[in-house]
Amino acid sequence: MIELRSPAEIEQMRPAGRFVAEVLTALQDAADVGVDLLDLDALAHRMIRERGAESCYIDYHPSFGASPFGKVLCTSVNDAVLHGLPHPYRLRDGDLLSLDFAVSVDGWVADSAVSLVVGTPREEDLRLIETTERALAAGIGAAVVGNHIEDIGHAIGEVAREAGLPINLQFGGHGVGRTMHGEPHVANDGRPGRGHPLRPGLVIAIEPWFLHTTDEIHTDPDGWTLRSDDGSRGAHAEHTVAITEDGPLVLTARGA
Ligand code: MG
Repeated sequence: MIELRSPAEIEQMRPAGRFVAEVLTALQDAADVGVDLLDLDALAHRMIRERGAESCYIDYHPSFGASPFGKVLCTSVNDAVLHGLPHPYRLRDGDLLSLDFAVSVDGWVADSAVSLVVGTPREEDLRLIETTERALAAGIGAAVVGNHIEDIGHAIGEVAREAGLPINLQFGGHGVGRTMHGEPHVANDGRPGRGHPLRPGLVIAIEPWFLHTTDEIHTDPDGWTLRSDDGSRGAHAEHTVAITEDGPLVLTARGA
């Protein structure tokens, strides 16, 4: 079932969005050569405790998960692109790191992701991140009343196609509300004018992610981390967005 939020409820969701943005900004600042993924998770965990927020990840145990996630942050490095389970690993010069973070504040969830390079970047990785961010912006731009769900995916897919990037349709965005994953599924490609009509009060996570040369992924032996089949690197960008009469409202905007 697709749930719609009243303007008052969308106002209530703002603190969760602001907090997620604040944590991702702190993590971006902290991520550097030599920093351990577990230190980043610990930083996010400390901020959650101080804020009195609730992690959406730590007890997360869907049917495909081997066991509860046990951490509060997804850290996906290089050929890992989604659901990266933090483990003892010190970031190295040139690593491409994707951070995905979701919490509940006052009973409302916000979910957001960002990718960055630590140390000396490869030109192609910066281009991948830039394209992924541009696809996210295009998806958000299509999240307007009068459009349909697949218009968002189409906007994302157009950016990927222009850049020559393969598109995976299995993992994409989702409804966000009292819980992290609701309907509808927001695929990273689609046909214009198709799918559920976008109405004021629909709150969704829009999250393009791309690998340089494949759309095929597999699960790491840790039971969570999703890696590219061909070893190519991935980037991920995500915001929680409310569709309103006044246009898309990015609840997790950083630096806002
Ligand atoms: Mg997320």
